[in-house]
Amino acid sequence: MGGAVISPGPETELAARAVLALDDESTDRNGLDLRNPLALRTMTTNSTIPEGQILVTYGGGVNTIANLILVRRLGLVPRVIVMAFPGHERTRTIWYRDEIMAPWLAGAGFPTVTVVSRWEEILHRTKFKNVETLGGLCERTAGLPSVAYGWKRCSFNFKRAPSVWWAERQEWCRKEWAAGRKIVKAIGYDMDEPQRARPGFDDPVENARYVPWYPLLDAGLDRAGCEALIASEGLPSPGKSACTFCPNNTLREWEEVRRDDPEAFAYALEMSRRAAPGLQNPDTTGLMRCNPKGKRQLHVWTEGGYPGLLPASEADDAEVQSTTPCECAL
Ligand code: SF4
Repeated sequence: MGGAVISPGPETELAARAVLALDDESTDRNGLDLRNPLALRTMTTNSTIPEGQILVTYGGGVNTIANLILVRRLGLVPRVIVMAFPGHERTRTIWYRDEIMAPWLAGAGFPTVTVVSRWEEILHRTKFKNVETLGGLCERTAGLPSVAYGWKRCSFNFKRAPSVWWAERQEWCRKEWAAGRKIVKAIGYDMDEPQRARPGFDDPVENARYVPWYPLLDAGLDRAGCEALIASEGLPSPGKSACTFCPNNTLREWEEVRRDDPEAFAYALEMSRRAAPGLQNPDTTGLMRCNPKGKRQLHVWTEGGYPGLLPASEADDAEVQSTTPCECAL
């Protein structure tokens, strides 16, 4: 499973490779041609690819899929594709990974998705003892995912940490670092959220081991461009990926979970009911951060306790797009 090691090249080199890749695609499979605005935007990419083995982060949503397609069209092969799994992804995200992306990855000569989790990685560590999913943590503490309280510890603990821990256990990663080489972490942030991109990582250890790369930003792709790229590949849209009970869900997303994942919705309801008595600020803290203050308790909303709240179809204009990645999406 050897990955491409890419030397930094001039801007024109990357642009030329993107053009060639797109031209190949247009004649071989997708009919995409250089008159396509998406292709033109990709041509005008003004960044170079960091040198090193490529690790693609797999959240499972629109940005993830567009990111992988772009990596392929640039003629690169990731060394590994890593999905950090807190334990409660949407059924659709898992289905898309296994039924849509698995054959696509095989066809591209890419590795399969490596799923990592806190509860598995913790078995290799002595410092921690609670072997549980994010939902399990919420059950044990009668709490909510920390993002409901305004923190981001749930994504740090259940996505970032297990990814970092998993890599530390891989011999090829240790060899790269021992040789003084950083691993290129290809992250799917797009032009709708350029502020999320950083030249390095906050954690000095992570910074010493990885260099971030943002292919979608380099290509100038926004969310609509990502959707267009996925469509040009002949793939359906994967929608958004997030924990089913994510407090960042929009109203429409809550309705989607209720419709598509009734068991997961019931689980979230129970979480909401369980946590409510212990909330210091129930007006501002709850699973429905999408609602106005005072209306953020999922179980109250479900029981019809918020009369006058706009239905999702009418409220959408005031909300973030339903495909916007969770704040923690990597
Ligand atoms: S998807 Fe939401 S609940 Fe899950 S880890 Fe990310 S911020 Fe937390």
